[in-house]
Amino acid sequence: VNTTLITNIGELVTNSSAIGDGILGVRSDAALVIENGKVAWVGEARSAPAADQLIDAAGAAVIPGFVDSHAHPVFAGDRAAEFAARMAGEGYSGGGIRTTVGATRAASETQLEANLVRLKQEFHRAGVTTFEAKSGYGLTVADELRSLEIAARHTTEVTFLGAHLVAPEFAENPNDYVNLVAGEMLAGAAKTAKWIDVFCDRGAFDVDQARTILTAGIAAGLKPRIHANQLTRTEAVQLAVELDCASADHCTHLNQADIDALANSNTVATLLPGAEFSTRSPYPDARALVDAGVTVAIATDCNPGSSYTTSMAFCIAVAVREMRLSPAEALRAATAGGAKALRRTDIGHLSVGARADLAILTAPSFVHLAYRPGVPLISKTIIEGKTA
Ligand SMILES: [Zn+2]
Repeated sequence: VNTTLITNIGELVTNSSAIGDGILGVRSDAALVIENGKVAWVGEARSAPAADQLIDAAGAAVIPGFVDSHAHPVFAGDRAAEFAARMAGEGYSGGGIRTTVGATRAASETQLEANLVRLKQEFHRAGVTTFEAKSGYGLTVADELRSLEIAARHTTEVTFLGAHLVAPEFAENPNDYVNLVAGEMLAGAAKTAKWIDVFCDRGAFDVDQARTILTAGIAAGLKPRIHANQLTRTEAVQLAVELDCASADHCTHLNQADIDALANSNTVATLLPGAEFSTRSPYPDARALVDAGVTVAIATDCNPGSSYTTSMAFCIAVAVREMRLSPAEALRAATAGGAKALRRTDIGHLSVGARADLAILTAPSFVHLAYRPGVPLISKTIIEGKTA
């Protein structure tokens, strides 16, 4: 099959204002042609060219595939008991990461990869066509490199997060661990990873340590991103802007100077509503960010401790209900926003020339993603023109 025509689309979301209306570039009665894994034609269904294969969308909405720009899917074990305890009133500190570090180190490579493949399949069923994958549950040179190599077999968006937490062996000498991450561990990771990330927050790494690690990563050819201001306000967002990080992630505790800095930068604010939901924490002020002109992304933060979801639709529903984004703003953040957070221009939209990454819904409008929370609404996910 060389060309595929998707027709009878009730509502096509393109994220291109040149093609359709509003911030989502929405068009009705549309059709779309895929050729060689790319979008080759978009327009009115009645003038669509002939193609080798036909997909009838049956009046449903078609959207760009979700771009999940923040996920931790390389791990072993789960923390259901910790979640239950937290829901019964215990607080969240981030220290539970150590539980997953122990399980991940003890797992075989086969087990770790099988778990990642299981989550990848969940992502695909849920309409995610690109996902980022961080290391960060190994915290030794060998365990971090193993996680990165497994991740690289399943996504191009591989992130070295040796600075997720100070490894337990270095609890008394955290700066020795910083030197290990920025030295020997980074030297190995730079061969496999595209990104470098630091969990810069209370109980993890401070801003000076984060600067040391990210600067070393940039010198080694990696691109920076950062976990910033999830648990408390620090200068982490300012550091993100200073280093031109592609994204500052969480952004739960910001002051006006942080919002202004983001608005005047090329750094995306990636919001992770699953984390606040699952830790029963206050949500970030998405409205203030969007109104200030900051580019916002929504991602799952998929991890076994603080946000064990692969559902971008769930995150959209929470962002709409709890963070006061409109359904259109939330969908844009989950597609084009994620693409910008990964500095990708080939995904997150459906204009001609884009990668043919899209999801066909079971519903007539994208609004249903928020309007029908918890209901699986993806009927087909297409990645580079092929059914996933
Ligand atoms: Zn994270």
